Amino acid sequence: MVPGPVPGRDYATTEAHLRRLVLTCEQRLVAGDKALDVVEFAVAELESCGLYVAGKGSAPNSAGYVELDASIMHGPTRAAGAVVAVVNVVNPVRVARGVMQKTSHVMLAGVGALNFAREHGFEIIADAANYYVLPVGVTADDITEQKHGTVGAVALDRSGELAAATSTGGTFMKLEGRVGDTPMIGAGTWADDDIAISCTGTGEHIIRSGGAIAIAHLFRAGASLQAACDEVLAEIKRLGGDAGIIAVTSSGEIVMPYNSDGMKRAAVGSGRPLVVATFE
Ligand code: ASP
Repeated sequence: MVPGPVPGRDYATTEAHLRRLVLTCEQRLVAGDKALDVVEFAVAELESCGLYVAGKGSAPNSAGYVELDASIMHGPTRAAGAVVAVVNVVNPVRVARGVMQKTSHVMLAGVGALNFAREHGFEIIADAANYYVLPVGVTADDITEQKHGTVGAVALDRSGELAAATSTGGTFMKLEGRVGDTPMIGAGTWADDDIAISCTGTGEHIIRSGGAIAIAHLFRAGASLQAACDEVLAEIKRLGGDAGIIAVTSSGEIVMPYNSDGMKRAAVGSGRPLVVATFE
């Protein structure tokens, strides 16, 4: 998902890609794969393909190089991992899962995250100067604007487990070292026994609205999934930001609301029709 699609531009390539990816994820879930593995797989594919503002499709910060943020969370255990402002890794989400499973920490930043990725054999970009590409629908002119994008995935598996993962190159031309909501557990990503959530949008506003955990708390307190998301989206709007949310509950309810012009999105589930869309 990316909340920044521009009306009038052609997103057929990303829609076709999302359709294939979501169907592959569904096959894996039907075959019994765990939600955590499927969200990691989905986000790693979205990072590697170069079609979105994450991984290979990320834009440089104002100092001229790419810094990446990602996080992942397993609902039943609340285990979580994240990397912030990391450079030169192919799949930040895989490193985030490594932090979750191989350390006692939740977050690693910058040089420490890169060193951890190297030590544990995660794929490193050989030639960072020539690795990154402009994602579909983004032109060189956009790089000078405060544009942004993120990819995320949420899943419910056959055993009832929920998981969420999110990854981004962040806002274009962000200050060196700037970190948004994406790697913050509770802001950009959340999963528990009831709900899994991944957010996209202007990270500063998502953080200040409470983001994903605010949705989870509203839902637990009895709000409908749609109402919980709408309330947090309204608060983000009130603060001056834009955002989009993908969320799934333990009963299989899915919502994908946004308050921007559009959001690339796809969803499928047992007994639910496939949805792939960019605008309304
Ligand atoms: N939330 C991301 C960030 O602020 C950007 C986005 O989702 O578009 O870094």
